Amino acid sequence: LVVVGVLCIQGAFIEHIKKLKEIRDNEALSLEIREIRKPSDMKDLDGLIIPGGESTTLSVFLAQNGFTDVIKKWISGHGVVWGTCAGLILLADDLQGQKEGGQTVIGGLPVQSRRNLFGRQRDSFEGLVHINEAQQLQSNGPPTCHGIFIRAPGISKVLSPDVKVLGYLSDQETVVAVEYQNIIATCFHPELTNDLRWHQYFLKHVVRQKNNSSAK
Ligand code: GLN
Repeated sequence: LVVVGVLCIQGAFIEHIKKLKEIRDNEALSLEIREIRKPSDMKDLDGLIIPGGESTTLSVFLAQNGFTDVIKKWISGHGVVWGTCAGLILLADDLQGQKEGGQTVIGGLPVQSRRNLFGRQRDSFEGLVHINEAQQLQSNGPPTCHGIFIRAPGISKVLSPDVKVLGYLSDQETVVAVEYQNIIATCFHPELTNDLRWHQYFLKHVVRQKNNSSAK
């Protein structure tokens, strides 16, 4: 049994849960999908999704409830985490575009993220995301996916050569999805589309990690 949680504090968590359930039912996976609302819900968790929403609200809640350090520790113990949008902001090691006295983030992902990178006029947009073929995210789909960006953060700099680019925009330059060890992060919202591949990719990573650690 693999246990995957979705942080259910604020934001698009219901949509993530729906996608996980759909995959579990389609593929008859032995998967427990857990709503994570307090630190003790993290017990024996194999994977965690931090959804998009409002990163300040999320981070304040996490800090006030002694949750930030629990997640940090869990990630450094190789829990597989996927942050979408605000989730990416919380996972970035370096956060730009912050007001004074801003958020306490979780960190762990060596990228620089800039809140609302895509500016005002492009506040929210939908566009084509090119999937890096080397990552074989698509086993049976096109090398692109539909990206929904809602006041999205950007990945303004990659801070380690070990960060793999999973997705970029048509300008061939703007990185919008990355992976680093046990951390996956996307600027956009796959849970708001019909494409299950990102959730499948995440689940595969969780299963692989679980098998690796139980083999040791
Ligand atoms: N702009 C939001 C923030 O800074 C993130 C938006 C999102 O998650 N869709 O928290």
